[in-house]
Amino acid sequence: MERAARCCICGSRITARFWACAACEAAYHLTGLFAAWPDWAKALKANEQRERRRAANWREYTIVSLDACPEAERLAYGDANDDSLAG
Ligand SMILES: [Zn+2]
Repeated sequence: MERAARCCICGSRITARFWACAACEAAYHLTGLFAAWPDWAKALKANEQRERRRAANWREYTIVSLDACPEAERLAYGDANDDSLAG
């Protein structure tokens, strides 16, 4: 399941291209450039960015996990072989 983008301050769901919702931007005066944000807001934004990146990576890892190999072999060769990938 894809992780929805969230406001890095209050956690409400927002469009992925934003880091803070409109209410938080107004409440904490975050309407200017990101470089002008206070340090605490930058830290929260960095945390949210890390979460979004991890959610994106998780999707990629599930595709290349060992559990997916029999299925990948079936697609590539028509059948799974007996190679021990874990050994
Ligand atoms: Zn917010």
